[in-house]
Amino acid sequence: MDIEPDTKDWTWVLERPCPACGFDAAQVDPTAVADRVLDVLPRWRHVLGRVEARERPAPATWSPLEYACHVRDVFVVFDRRVRLMLDGDDPEFENWDQDVTAIQDDYAVQLPSEVASQLDVAGRAVAETFAAVPDDAWSRTGRRGNGSVFTVATLSTYFLHDVVHHLHDVHG
Ligand SMILES: [Zn+2]
Repeated sequence: MDIEPDTKDWTWVLERPCPACGFDAAQVDPTAVADRVLDVLPRWRHVLGRVEARERPAPATWSPLEYACHVRDVFVVFDRRVRLMLDGDDPEFENWDQDVTAIQDDYAVQLPSEVASQLDVAGRAVAETFAAVPDDAWSRTGRRGNGSVFTVATLSTYFLHDVVHHLHDVHG
């Protein structure tokens, strides 16, 4: 069975706690996001070390490996978005279809050990980018093609939710 494409607009997680994973964006200090990312990296590595990392718990649910590939790519995409916001004036983000990427890049057949090191490298890179945001730059803006506007601060908590939420998905 194919994965149901995720068409939900997740920007509501900035307004209220997530009922699934308990993440509450209002309680997150954007300047702490870099450390929060570094904190979860060992948990993701642990998930990828499981013998059943490649197994989907249900036919239409990603395996831990597929979720980890997604999070690795989230690290890369959001690193790029923050840099765009810091370097440019209210940039529009490129469209990123996570479900198309999962199929085109064949997440399901990637090597867990390789994904573990890629995830680590990408996670450290995005943490470094967030750690280097100047104090006066958290209110800089960027937008998605659909019109959603983010500041560096809201993008940081939106991004962290994705990482934490998927760790919850895989019981990591
Ligand atoms: Zn959540």
